[in-house]
Amino acid sequence: MNQKDLKNLSLSGQRTELMPVLFVGHGTPMNAIEVNEFVLKWRELGKSIPAPKAILCISAHWETSGTFVTAMTMPSTIHDFGGFPQELYEVQYPAPGSPELAYHVKRIIKSVDVGMDQKWGLDHGSWSVLRNIYPMYEIPVVEMSLDWHLTPLTHYELAKELAPLRKMGVLIIGSGNIVHNLRMIAWDHANDPEYGFDWAINANETFKRLILDNNHQDLINYQTLGTEVQMAVPTPDHYLPLLYTLALKEENESIEFFNDKPVMGSLSMTSVKIE
Ligand code: ZN
Repeated sequence: MNQKDLKNLSLSGQRTELMPVLFVGHGTPMNAIEVNEFVLKWRELGKSIPAPKAILCISAHWETSGTFVTAMTMPSTIHDFGGFPQELYEVQYPAPGSPELAYHVKRIIKSVDVGMDQKWGLDHGSWSVLRNIYPMYEIPVVEMSLDWHLTPLTHYELAKELAPLRKMGVLIIGSGNIVHNLRMIAWDHANDPEYGFDWAINANETFKRLILDNNHQDLINYQTLGTEVQMAVPTPDHYLPLLYTLALKEENESIEFFNDKPVMGSLSMTSVKIE
């Protein structure tokens, strides 16, 4: 463990104010290198929220058997996609890791035994977004995986155990997409990237209403919300990070949506800030 990092991070030093919690719709990996309205909003976010001591990112792109956190001092940048321009494969996000935060997560989560990972790193669910929010990569980043054996309810309950981190200056980010159906992408609307199928727009509105109503029970039981929602969430990977974010909301906190737009027909970039 890097003693200098440990000292700088000093997670033991309690802060009184709660850090915001984010759910970020990350969309295509190209958002890492393109400049568009979504990316500009990410850049603005980095300037508007209090500087975190560290970041914990729950990424849609790291599914494992068991729950893991990256525990290395220097996580590598993982290019976990195919068929994109060379420029995207050359992007590095050399933020330090934080073994201290990783071990702290292991200590505070009692419901499962969190594994310390030394092999993963930062996948594009983290770095495509963080590269825009914190372009100087000076803030330590730990990624947390999604255990594919857990139910949505157990994910939600596990997420609640992360709450103490918010008082320690840790920014928790769920990174996925609320509406995410890659099989139904509207390729015939390629010239209109902000196109959304009716079912995708309706499902997005359903989710937003439930989020504003704090109806977490229905959001956990999303599979019972009808055909449009089932089409929006054909697999849980990009949706579950939203549950991690919502589980951390305290009763008196406000909800703000940003980047609330459909893209490519069957995805939404809708993102949530809780503070
Ligand atoms: Zn993704």
